[in-house]
This record gives sequence, structure tokens and C-alpha cells, in this order.
Amino acid sequence: MDPQNQFCPNMDCPARGKVKRNNIVIHSRKEARYKCKVCGKTFAASTGTPYYRLHHSVDLVTTVVTLLAYGCPIQAIVAAFMLDERTVYDWQRRSGAHCQKVHAHLVQQPRDLEHVQADEIWVKVQGHVVWLAMALMVRTRLWLGGVLGPQRNERLIVRLIHLVRQNALARPLLFCVDGYRAYVSAVQRVFRAPLPNGKRGRPRLVPWPDIFIGQVIKRYRTKRVIAIDRQMAQGAQEQAETLLTQSRGGQQLNTAFIERLNATFRSRLATLGRRTRSLARLDGTLQAGMYLIGCVYCQ
Ligand SMILES: [Zn+2]
Repeated sequence: MDPQNQFCPNMDCPARGKVKRNNIVIHSRKEARYKCKVCGKTFAASTGTPYYRLHHSVDLVTTVVTLLAYGCPIQAIVAAFMLDERTVYDWQRRSGAHCQKVHAHLVQQPRDLEHVQADEIWVKVQGHVVWLAMALMVRTRLWLGGVLGPQRNERLIVRLIHLVRQNALARPLLFCVDGYRAYVSAVQRVFRAPLPNGKRGRPRLVPWPDIFIGQVIKRYRTKRVIAIDRQMAQGAQEQAETLLTQSRGGQQLNTAFIERLNATFRSRLATLGRRTRSLARLDGTLQAGMYLIGCVYCQ
């Protein structure tokens, strides 16, 4: 236990959220509790973590959550560790919710994205098809987030593009996507900024400059790719190629990086919904699972 890096979680305390103020001391090693000298309150070392108020060891929970993040079937975990299925689902949900907070805190901030690949896949869970659209920053392979929906439609894509915009600085940006037309309209709709004109009322929205959209369209015959068409849906080819090289994203327009991510998610998510009873719970399970996998993902 190290009180140095702890902070007081008491919202009524003047020292709340502040680290390295020497106001936190160890209250009880046995019970793993700290005490704040400013407000006099004690708190569990696991406060604010997925381990809070769990009746199992931190090591066991960590092992199980790691297995879940790599797609280990829940039934295998139940059998190996002699746990109740509901307990495993609960840990999965807790850790996923925590990952979502970590993601919001660490990832969702404007950065020079350069080159983003986005794609959507369907995942079959419990006899239903769920659509998952995700985006990835190519240079760092950073998972920018994903959205889930019952259908593949423009709404799903617009939600995804909003997510990307939250992470984007107003810098030249190349999108590499498949041939789904909704991407083009969604990017054009979302990547706009108000132009102040000194008049009253809503200012006119103007598109961001230097947003490039490259489409990679694969043609199949009996499940085999027989041809790949690459075309620019917006912006000049030459500048798009500069962004490709700059981001170390290949020689020509491609969606290889997001496809790898998709394959990982498809296999790891599929195991989650298998035995979930209700569809409402399934949504929560998938959302948590998506964040758990996405935050652990690296390639
Ligand atoms: Zn305090």
C-alpha cells in the first residue's frame, strides 16, 4: 500500500482528488484502508476501481478479466475457477465500465490523427445480429472507440464519426473506409464548424478543410476477393498519399489495419453473448465487452 499516490475520494473534502499532498495515511493494512487527514474519513484501497467490494482476491479477478479480454469463453472460466456464471458476468460488466471511463479520460482528447480507418462488422450473438462500427488511428494503432446498433445504417456511422471527431485536431486527416456510402455523408455532416459572421442567429456551418476520404472496395466471387478498387470520395489523391506515408499506413489506400482489429473483436465478442438470457442485458454485456477488448487491444 502506497499512500503517496492516493487521493481522498470524499466529495465534501477540500483535498478531494489531489495527490502528493501528504494528507493520506494508511488506516489499516489488514483491511486495506486509507485515511484522509483533512476530512478524517477512511476509504478502501479499491475505491474507484473494478475491485471495489468484491469478495474475491484481486489476483483472481485480474486473471478472469484478462481471460475475458482475450475472448476466453465464460463457461471455461466458470469451470476452471469454480465460479458462478453471474459472478463472471458481473466482473466483465464492472471492468468494461471501468475501461470506458479510462478510455474517456485517456483516449478521448483531440490529437493529430493523420490517418483513420473505420469499418463495421456484424457479430452474431444469441441468434441475433448486432452491428459494431469502430475506428482506429493508424500510426499508433490506437482504438478510438466503437458504437453498437441493431442495424447497419447511416445513424450508426454518424455516431461513429462523431466519436472520431471528438478525438481530432483540425489537421489534415485521411479516412480509409469501405464502399459504404454512409461514410461520405457522415464525414461531411460531422466534420463541419460554425463560421462566425457577426450576425445574430445560427452561424453557417462550413466543412473542415483537408479532410480526405479514400474508399477501398473489394469485389468478391465465391467468398474470394477477386479485385480491389481504390478511389478518392473526397480530396486529392496526392495529399492522401502523403498522409498514408506519414502515418506509415502503407503505399496505397487500404483498410488492412481496421480489418485486423475487426477480426480480433469478432472472435472475442462472440463468446460473450452466448448464454446471456435477455436482450437488454446483452446490450450492456456487449458494450462492456467492447470497451474491455478495445482498451486491452494492441497489434
Ligand atoms: Zn478527505
